Amino acid sequence: MIEENVSLARHTTIGTGGAARWFARPESVEALQEALRWARDAGARVEVIGLGSNVLVHDDGVDALVLRLAGELAAAEVDGTELVAGGGATNAVCLHRARDAGLAGFEFASAIPGTAGGGVRMNAGAYGREWRDVLVDALVVDADGARTVPVAQLGLAYRRSSLVPGEVVARVRFRLEPGSPEAVKKKVSELLAQRKATQPTNKRTFGSVFKNPSPELGAGRAIEACGLKGHRIGGALISPRHANFIENGGGATSADCIALMTEARRRVHERFGVELEHEVQFLGPLELPPL
Ligand SMILES: Cc1cc2nc3c(=O)[nH]c(=O)nc-3n(C[C@H](O)[C@H](O)[C@H](O)COP(=O)(O)OP(=O)(O)OC[C@H]3O[C@@H](n4cnc5c(N)ncnc54)[C@H](O)[C@@H]3O)c2cc1C
Repeated sequence: MIEENVSLARHTTIGTGGAARWFARPESVEALQEALRWARDAGARVEVIGLGSNVLVHDDGVDALVLRLAGELAAAEVDGTELVAGGGATNAVCLHRARDAGLAGFEFASAIPGTAGGGVRMNAGAYGREWRDVLVDALVVDADGARTVPVAQLGLAYRRSSLVPGEVVARVRFRLEPGSPEAVKKKVSELLAQRKATQPTNKRTFGSVFKNPSPELGAGRAIEACGLKGHRIGGALISPRHANFIENGGGATSADCIALMTEARRRVHERFGVELEHEVQFLGPLELPPL
């Protein structure tokens, strides 16, 4: 079923932005294909949203069909040493399924609040591991059909993939390894404690704002060196805890976030001669002014 004018703010972790012109929650590959064909026939652009944990939505909304995978496309099950997950399955669900079945190797994703499909699109990663290290393949669906794409052909690199708009990751296979549930639980607790100590995990954010320009110069460190920690515009502020996060301090708009990003990029460029590239994905006609 295609709904109209659905607010996206509650579908994002930062909690800002306007409405999707059209919105659907397909629960099977067939329903997903039907929605994609509907969009093609209507001439509508297609966007996918996972947990909305790395997206910023335009305050005036998105002139597109926005899909959020549900039902069997958000479930996960274990098959031998493989975890088969719908593109909309949350990392938390995947991790629980794996742990309960005595599979290890997905612990790094415990602090990444996204979905299996969003992780493919972003090649999400933490603590030295990323999606491409555990992924076998992905079922990629567009208006023309579905195809299984091996990990080597997904173009996964630092926070990027070769997926293009209109291509939806409907299912993935992760290859994990045997590991005791107790050991997995212990590792996850350690990683989460590490996170809590360094990042604003109890605030509304969209994760990393910018990609790290290089292993030597992290985006957070560069922004902090410009004295921007705690800098506020409207309802948004650069996190006092970690400068590569923007917090919704109450009543923030996406325009406030863009203004902060613009200021951070300008100041880092002035000081380090580096052009920060945004990691957060824009939905709707958002852009940063040229430097
Ligand atoms: C507190 C916090 C901590 C974070 N820490 C990390 C971290 O350590 N490492 C890291 O890599 N990221 C981190 N992130 C960012 C984010 O969680 C990841 O990028 C995550 O993988 C995004 O998944 P998602 O399902 O929420 O995707 P969304 O944020 O909803 O979407 C991100 C992009 O993926 C696309 N997409 C989503 N689902 C699909 C699909 N099924 N098929 C095709 N495209 C899709 C969207 O269109 C969009 O372009 C963090 C975010 C927060 C809020």
